[in-house]
Amino acid sequence: MASIQTTAGGMPVLILKEGTKESKGREAQKNNIMAAKLIAEIVKTSLGPRGMDKMLVDNLGDVTITNDGATILKEIDVQHPAAKMMVEVAKSVDNEVGDGTTSSVVFAGALLERAEELINKDVHPSVIVDGYNAAAEQALKLLEKIAVQVDVSDKDMLLKIARTSMDSKLVSEDSPLLGQIVVDATKQVAEKTDEGGLKVDLDDIKVEKKAGGSMRDTKLIRGIVLDKEVVHAGMPKRIEKAKIALVNSALEIEKTEMSAEIRISDPQQMQMFLEEENRMLKSMVDKIKASGANVVLCQKGIDDIAQHYLAKAGVLAVRRVKESDMTKMSRATGARIVNNLDDLTSKDLGSAELVEERKVETDKWVFIEGCKNPKSVTILVRGGSQRVVDEAERSLHDALMVMKDVLEKPAIVAGGGAPEAYIANELRQWSSSQEGRAQLAVQKFADALDAIPLNLAENAGMDPIDTMTELRAKQSKGAKWTGVDARNTQVADMYKQNVLEPVVVKQQIIKSATEVASMLLRIDDVIAASKSKMPSGPPGGGGMGGMGGMGGMGME
Ligand code: ADP
Ligand code: MG
Repeated sequence: MASIQTTAGGMPVLILKEGTKESKGREAQKNNIMAAKLIAEIVKTSLGPRGMDKMLVDNLGDVTITNDGATILKEIDVQHPAAKMMVEVAKSVDNEVGDGTTSSVVFAGALLERAEELINKDVHPSVIVDGYNAAAEQALKLLEKIAVQVDVSDKDMLLKIARTSMDSKLVSEDSPLLGQIVVDATKQVAEKTDEGGLKVDLDDIKVEKKAGGSMRDTKLIRGIVLDKEVVHAGMPKRIEKAKIALVNSALEIEKTEMSAEIRISDPQQMQMFLEEENRMLKSMVDKIKASGANVVLCQKGIDDIAQHYLAKAGVLAVRRVKESDMTKMSRATGARIVNNLDDLTSKDLGSAELVEERKVETDKWVFIEGCKNPKSVTILVRGGSQRVVDEAERSLHDALMVMKDVLEKPAIVAGGGAPEAYIANELRQWSSSQEGRAQLAVQKFADALDAIPLNLAENAGMDPIDTMTELRAKQSKGAKWTGVDARNTQVADMYKQNVLEPVVVKQQIIKSATEVASMLLRIDDVIAASKSKMPSGPPGGGGMGGMGGMGGMGME
């Protein structure tokens, strides 16, 4: 099957390296589609509010329990190149919009499955690709058309959107509280752009998690939480109306670059040497005191003697704070990060209502909270066990991204498969405007979109045929928000059910899935290099390995 050599004038010409495997045409396409479909098969049972969770065990035995498409695919180690491309779709959707990862993989799988039906009827893949792309373009226009503008100051509306993204997760029970936290956090850090819109940088929202307590103890802190303790036992553990200095140089005597040696010949000299060190450290602390700071957060170390003087001055200090936390702190408290203590003045100090060391389970953490208009905040996630807080963190990520999406582009559609069913319906009518066989591809694209409501219904234990017939009937009567109400196992108006999602998520799902399906369909030749670089014969056995090689492209 592999045509790794050809002949020229009777002489074989070797084109590909020994051990290379090649599969061509139909066979290559079939393999790719099969692999991609299998990936979709894995994640589709986790779609929607009634979707199941997956337990993933890595090779070290660590367990992850999740329902997040991107996480599932990240954790499983796929081999087949086409399967890897499906994993990439989930990743790209995750990066762009944060939610909709499972949907994109399910939809891409459905697109390929439908394409296979056409290939079996001898429709050329490039015709299918053209039809798919035309359909996708039309679908994006339709989404734009039905999208509803939202007012970003309508907190109720934002809460509904945040809750929808968490509804399909382990944390759905607590989505009223978590949703509120997500809305408050993103609104707090959102900044106006020159064009009059909003911009959200999720780096400004720190998510700290600690197993223990219950999910209901999860809190939004208008400031920063540091997983560090106060450096010296003699320092205050609580300071109200804090004036905070952020220092990124060490409060230590600098060691010389080269190794130096100081020879001391009598005890007096030793005394002087120590006193000088002492004096230098004290002068550092004096500079801090002079600025009026009562809290010092230092990115580097703090010498024992400096700690002593700081404690004596009643200053609370934390050392070895991460650089990223220093930046966040600066955005939260309004302090300027100072390199050189000589430059430190009262103007550089930030402020917070309260700085306090608290016990969180077995650790001691420093809370800097009650900042006036923090441009950086922290969500402290609590929950029964490590796995619960891990999954809560992932769900919060989705919800935060969704909030960023709507704040930056305030347009939404209903969920529950309603927009997919609507577009499918419209596309079927529109397909007649297409020429020749591309028409078939457009219809298949519409059928593939139905996979979303269909899987939502199946996962909720609803009858797929009855549900889809009812859904289609209502859609064709023009009830565009009709979808699968998976919670109450019925076909319903999803807008009225408050299942609402940013339109950009739906658009990204269509874009990414169509892209990967087209890419895979265009491939008619897979050439895979042999995995082992060296022939794996016994040492000295000379050249007998290599025949056939290991083959790098099988679906192991
Ligand atoms: P994804 O990774 O694609 O976001 P999810 O498991 O989060 O996957 O499921 C998202 C799908 O579930 C979307 O189509 C969304 O509209 C739908 N959905 C969310 N909440 C509900 C609900 N209460 N009823 C029906 N569908 C819902
Ligand atoms: Mg989701």
